[in-house]
Amino acid sequence: MLQLLIIGGGVHGVHVAHRLLQQTPLTRDDIRILDPHDELLYAWRRCTRNCGMRYLRSPSVHHIDIDPFSLDRYALLPENRSDTNFIAPKDRPSVELFDRHCQMVIDNHLLESLHVRGRALEIHNHLTHVSVATTAETIHARRVLLAPGMGEQPFWPSWAIRLKDQGTRVGHVFDPDFSLDDLQAKGPVAVIGAGISGAQLSLRIAEKQDDAVFLISRKAIQVIDFDFDPGWLGPKHLERFCRQSIDQRRLEIMAARSKGSVSRDVKLALENATAQNRLTCIVDDITDATDQAGSAHLIGRLDQYDCQTIVLATGFTEKRPGNGFMDQVIKEFDLKTAACGFPVTDPSLKWHERIFVTGPLSELQIGPSARNIAGSRHSGRRITDALNEELTSSKP
Ligand SMILES: Cc1cc2nc3c(=O)[nH]c(=O)nc-3n(C[C@H](O)[C@H](O)[C@H](O)COP(=O)(O)OP(=O)(O)OC[C@H]3O[C@@H](n4cnc5c(N)ncnc54)[C@H](O)[C@@H]3O)c2cc1C
Repeated sequence: MLQLLIIGGGVHGVHVAHRLLQQTPLTRDDIRILDPHDELLYAWRRCTRNCGMRYLRSPSVHHIDIDPFSLDRYALLPENRSDTNFIAPKDRPSVELFDRHCQMVIDNHLLESLHVRGRALEIHNHLTHVSVATTAETIHARRVLLAPGMGEQPFWPSWAIRLKDQGTRVGHVFDPDFSLDDLQAKGPVAVIGAGISGAQLSLRIAEKQDDAVFLISRKAIQVIDFDFDPGWLGPKHLERFCRQSIDQRRLEIMAARSKGSVSRDVKLALENATAQNRLTCIVDDITDATDQAGSAHLIGRLDQYDCQTIVLATGFTEKRPGNGFMDQVIKEFDLKTAACGFPVTDPSLKWHERIFVTGPLSELQIGPSARNIAGSRHSGRRITDALNEELTSSKP
C-alpha cells in the first residue's frame, strides 16, 4: 500500500514529493501524485503563460528543488547562461529559466512517473489507511497530502457573470479555457484588475493589437516588489503570528499580502506603454455592465466605458479550495476548521493523523507565504520532519 498519496500536482505537491523522496526513508514505490492534467505543474504553466508573465515575483532561492542555490547553479551552466535570466531586486528568475529548472528536477528525479491522472472525489477513513475515490480508480494509502491550490476558483464579479450570460466576450485569465495566444480581440479590450497578473496581461494584449486597451483598477497602481514582506519567511513575523488566535491570524494574512500591487519593472513597463499610447490605465470601480449588440458598456463609479472584449484579472475567490470534495473530507474525518473555513492543523500541518495539508490550506500555520513557492518549501520541511518522526517511531 502507498505510504502517501499527494492530491494536486502543482508547485506544492511536486516540491513536497521531491523533498520527501530526498529527505525521508520513503521511496518511489511509496508515493503517488494525483492530478487531473496531462503533466505535473500544468496549472502553474497555464496561469503564468496566460498572464504573459516574464519574470517571477519571488527571488531565485524559491523553486522546487531542495538546495536553495540549485536554480542559481543551473543558470550558470554554459547552455543556460543568458543576460535575461534574472531581474532585480533579489535575482528574480525569468519564467523561462524557472520552468526549465522545474523540468530538470522532474526529469532527473523521475517525478512524472509518480503522477496518476485523475481527480479525487471522496476520501474514506479506515482503521489503518484511507481510500481515495478518484475519477479513474480507488487508491489506498496510509495517508494523504491535500495540495489542491487556488487555481480552480477564479473570481468573477456578479456584473461580469450577467454580461457573459448575455453573450458578451468576457473571460477570466485563470479560466481553464482562456488562452492569451488565441485571444483575437477586435475593437477595444478592457482588462479588469491591476494586480501583477492584470498589469502584465494588459501589456501583452497591447503588444498584440492596435485597438485601445484599458487597464481598469479600483485603486491607483501601487509598487510593492514582493507578494509579502520577506520577514514572513522566518521568525521575525512568524513567531508572533503563531501566538495569535486563529481568527487574528486570518486578519494578519489579509493585511500582509500585497494584493493589487505590481513590481517595479512592471510599473515601468506600464508607464512606457501609456506614454506610447498603447495602453490607458483607469482608476475606477466597475459596478455594472450592459450588453449592447455583443459589445459591453461598463458602468463605473466615476465614468462609463465601451469595449468589445473583457478579460478579468480579478484573482481567485478567497474561499477554501477544494469545493464539495473538501466538504466531504471534513465531514468524513470530523475535521476542525476556522471561521474562515480553512483548516485548523497542528504545526506539522497535520489536519488528522492521516491527512496533511499544504498551499492555501496551510495558511493558518505558515502565514501569508503559504500560497507561494516559499510556502511549499516551508510546509515541505515541516511535513518531512513529521514523517521522519512517524516512520522512525513505527519501526519495530
Ligand atoms: C499568475 C501567477 C503568478 C505567480 N507567480 C508567483 C511567483 O512569482 N512567486 C511565487 O512564489 N508564487 C507565485 N504565484 C503563487 C503560487 O506559487 C502559484 O499559484 C503556484 O502555482 C501554486 O501552486 P499549488 O501547487 O498550490 O497550486 P496549483 O498550481 O493550482 O496546483 C494544484 C493542482 O491540484 C489539482 N487539483 C485540485 N483539486 C484536485 C483534486 N480534487 N484531485 C486531484 N487534483 C486536484 C489542480 O488541478 C492543480 O493541477 C503565482 C500565481 C499565479 C496565479
